[in-house]
Amino acid sequence: MTSPPTKIVLITGASSGIGEATARRLAADGHHVMLGARRVDRLAALVDELRAAGGSADHQELDVTSRDSVAAFVSGAHDRHGRIDVLVNNAGVMALSTLDALRTDEWDQMIDVNLRGTLHGIAAALPLMRARGKGHIITIGSSAAYRVDPTAAVYCATKYAVRALAEGLRQESRDVRMTLVSPGYTHSELTERGGDPQIRAAARAASDELGMPASAVADAIAYAIAQPDTVDVNEIVMRSTAQG
Ligand code: NDP
Repeated sequence: MTSPPTKIVLITGASSGIGEATARRLAADGHHVMLGARRVDRLAALVDELRAAGGSADHQELDVTSRDSVAAFVSGAHDRHGRIDVLVNNAGVMALSTLDALRTDEWDQMIDVNLRGTLHGIAAALPLMRARGKGHIITIGSSAAYRVDPTAAVYCATKYAVRALAEGLRQESRDVRMTLVSPGYTHSELTERGGDPQIRAAARAASDELGMPASAVADAIAYAIAQPDTVDVNEIVMRSTAQG
């Protein structure tokens, strides 16, 4: 690649699934990607791979449940590059179980990662974008932000909440763009951890059968980023054709 990177893009939860696919797509598009997650070995390997392919990438350990960790992730990139153009609030966890199973630690974890993590990203990035008079915050919602299913009540609650946040951010913004990308079943590691094992296995099977590749979501994110600063793609809801 000979031309300089076009945008500085920060991606939370870039060590697998949608975040990883987004890093690949955006680096291939010529953007600089700053990758965050807890599994830094994965991030380091991905950065090596992206650089070997001519891309511009960096990584930093990130735990989105910590406001300080998110602030350091965002300010570190801002200090290095003098600006941040896009924050993709993607990190998320899903632990499926019925409410009466009272897996309260997992409720807290979903709230802390999916909702508080998104808020931490907004808190860190929005002032910098406002000061510059431009920027773009992309939130990964879900089809679970539009419909509640048994065993997914808490996960859906967090996704309804981030959808509300994204809409509020849109209404309050005249300079910073806001995009909510809400996928249905997508191939990733989301169903590999947490929740009731039997319910998790059923979700995994459904995702394997009906899911779309994570690269499809990355393509939607790339589309929103590629629009001119004067055009804000507010909401993308997408599912595999098979999911219906
Ligand atoms: P993955 O499990 O593959 O990826 C989740 C990512 O989140 C990982 O990179 C993980 O990194 C990161 N993460 C989890 N906890 C934290 C934390 N505390 N701090 C920082 N990063 C964290 O699943 P997906 O790619 O599917 O998930 C990405 C987003 O897409 C989530 O918000 C999810 O809710 C959403 N989504 C997924 C759908 C699907 O069917 N797959 C459908 C709709 C929405 P690490 O563990 O290394 O920290």
